[in-house]
Amino acid sequence: MENVKCLIIGSGPAGYTAAIYASRADLNPVVYTGLEPGGQLTTTTDVDNFPGYPEGIEGPIMMQELQKQAERFGTDVRIGHVTRVELNSEKGKMHTVTIDESKTINAKTIIISTGASAKYLGLPSEKRLIGGGVSACAVCDGFFYKNQKVAIVGGGDTAAEEATYLANICSNVVMIIRRNEMRASKAMQHRVNKTKNIEIMYETEISEVLGEKVVEAVEVINNKTKVKKKISVSGLFIAIGHKPNTDIFRGQVDMDDLGYILTKGKSTKTNKPGVFASGDVQDNEYRQAVTAAGTGCMAALDAERYLGSL
Ligand code: FAD
Ligand code: NAP
Repeated sequence: MENVKCLIIGSGPAGYTAAIYASRADLNPVVYTGLEPGGQLTTTTDVDNFPGYPEGIEGPIMMQELQKQAERFGTDVRIGHVTRVELNSEKGKMHTVTIDESKTINAKTIIISTGASAKYLGLPSEKRLIGGGVSACAVCDGFFYKNQKVAIVGGGDTAAEEATYLANICSNVVMIIRRNEMRASKAMQHRVNKTKNIEIMYETEISEVLGEKVVEAVEVINNKTKVKKKISVSGLFIAIGHKPNTDIFRGQVDMDDLGYILTKGKSTKTNKPGVFASGDVQDNEYRQAVTAAGTGCMAALDAERYLGSL
């Protein structure tokens, strides 16, 4: 059985940043990439808000560069998906991790960086146009629709927050909500209702996203009257929630009601000694590459200090 000092689960900005710091601290980290090597940014085109790239950078290229940077200091990056974990409650003891249901590794410290996945509606036309006008991140992609009309689907706090964010950039925002009320808090609802260029369509669902290569319109259906309508928009933002990738850690580390891993105070420490969490997997609030990278750095420093304390 292989023993490692530091095992990093996930290869997004959090995992690779943790790897850069951990390898420079001689922790000889092993990274398991999971099924999406490079993480969520490999599904997007331009990343314009990561510091250090004045001209912007394509998401997949940025992630290759982060991988190279981690490997430069000796990180061992391996293709593999963690299918099972047994986390020890005793300080200094090894945790056991199973990869692809076959290989087992013992790790003194584990950094969980498995991210979160945006939920989508599940329409084939939506899937086809992801990156061509369909986006699950208004803060990331809103800028591309400056002075244009866009739609956003969802009625929760995220949708309300993103609708008001988009309203500052876009000419018009159509908010499509499936029930006759929003799930968002009253304060967020007031903000939406006060914003002049947001139009709300209640009891409405998207039946089709229209456009060959890029979004040109959405077809919506009123779920009470069954009347269909076409709305011309150049962007469609999906804001119906995220799911943290934490199923394999359920019952092993403390999580909130939505499944996000809970960390202690300002640190990345979980309730298990030697187990740290960084990136979107523990952050339901910011969900940005730079914040994921920041907490990846923190997790590696926390792991180094933990090993030093043994
Ligand atoms: P992720 O990037 O989600 O990576 C998670 C990693 O964990 C993946 O490598 C996955 O394979 C791995 N994994 C999951 N489960 C397992 C397992 N069981 N075993 C092993 N590995 C596992 N943010 C910005 O700052 N700017 C942008 O412009 C921007 N654009 C975006 C565009 C889109 C379309 C999307 C979806 C997101 C965008 N974001 C952007 C958000 C940003 O991508 C995320 O905040 C960031 O990627 C989170 O990093 P992370 O390392 O926490 O997780
Ligand atoms: P959420 O609260 O679960 O809301 C999801 C919204 O999407 C709901 O309106 C839901 O409709 C709708 N929806 C779900 N599936 C859909 C589908 N298939 N088709 C159409 N609509 C669909 O998720 P969230 O808004 O991302 O918020 C997650 C958590 O973070 C919440 O606890 C929220 O309070 C918190 N948050 C807080 C803030 C803040 O305080 N500033 C900001 C963002 C998020 P139904 O209501 O009909 O189910």
